[in-house]
Amino acid sequence: MAEKRDYYEVLGVERNANADEIKKAYRKAAIKYHPDKNPGDKEAEEKFKEAAEAYDVLSNPEKRARYDQFGHAGMSGAAGGGYGGGFSGGGFSMEDIFSQFGDIFGGHFGGGFSGFSGGGRSRSRSTNRGTDIRVKVKLTLAEIAAGTTKKLRITKNIACDKCGGTGANGANGYSTCSTCNGTGVVTRVENTFFGRMQTQSVCPACGGTGKVITSPCDKCNGEGTVKGSEVVEIKIPAGVGEGMVLTVAGKGNAARHGGVNGDLLVVVEEERNPQLVRDGDDLIHNLNITVTTALLGGEVEVPTIEGKAKIKIAPGTHAGKVLRLRGKGLPSVNGYGHGDILVVVDITIPSKLTAEERRLVEQLAQQPSFQAAEKVENQNIFERMKSFFR
Ligand SMILES: [Zn+2]
Ligand SMILES: [Zn+2]
Repeated sequence: MAEKRDYYEVLGVERNANADEIKKAYRKAAIKYHPDKNPGDKEAEEKFKEAAEAYDVLSNPEKRARYDQFGHAGMSGAAGGGYGGGFSGGGFSMEDIFSQFGDIFGGHFGGGFSGFSGGGRSRSRSTNRGTDIRVKVKLTLAEIAAGTTKKLRITKNIACDKCGGTGANGANGYSTCSTCNGTGVVTRVENTFFGRMQTQSVCPACGGTGKVITSPCDKCNGEGTVKGSEVVEIKIPAGVGEGMVLTVAGKGNAARHGGVNGDLLVVVEEERNPQLVRDGDDLIHNLNITVTTALLGGEVEVPTIEGKAKIKIAPGTHAGKVLRLRGKGLPSVNGYGHGDILVVVDITIPSKLTAEERRLVEQLAQQPSFQAAEKVENQNIFERMKSFFR
């Protein structure tokens, strides 16, 4: 794929262009490269999409600021909220462009292009869709490490069981919409940017269903939805992190009159683990050892995700030494690789000594290995700390 062009260059505007200038520039580009004016021209279609993508970013102050700071790199990945997606990075389909930016042409944009507006799907999506629901789910390290399945009871609007979500009181509760004669769309002949043309839009009287309710369902008052709840099973992949959003399609609120359900957005929260602090896919543990273990070496226990592990401390271990338990950290969320547990050693110095201990330490202090510390050693510890906490 060719390298992405600068969005300002795509629209032909200055970097300090205001919202109005950006809108005008996009309108100009959209007319020029419009598929109806350039039938079968793949290059025009690409330019048309490119302009829509640039406009999507530059017309949104938040996205524009991010783009100004980070360029194209800022428009994908983390910015989209992990799984959230959206348009950023993924490119636009024609259908997206018409449903998203149709209003820039005063409502005439979407209807005229039979080749792209694709019948009922895009209409029902924009006119009759339930709202999304956002819930938080708290996960332990072990759950994050292995991935898990959570069952959550979600309180939401569900389809009315009495009318099956239609909102009508039985099969005779409807009549054919007189505004659109049951077709769900209204057709008008209008003057547009492209000359005189026929435009279609969703029937405002029936919302595209072609039917109007004459006798509403008494349980939902004709809404088609009632308050209820549903247990939703949420599969959480291994390696997720704080703030990531998982989308469960179709598990949000039900729409009025049997439209398309919204989505359930699951926001990941990490339960704090005081023993193992997360740093990306690695886990950090601060280990305290005694002076004698530091001098003589020994075996100590450290916490792991699953439980505990024994590790060996070499004789002469310094404070600040980092021991690595390879592969004992978290799996990376993209499925490649595994983090480590980093054990950072600290040495506990007793603050009080008994008379006997004091006598022994004083004896030790006379021995050759306990004379003034070499400066070089101290420097090494400092360097190690620095590289660890880079
Ligand atoms: Zn009902
Ligand atoms: Zn109608």
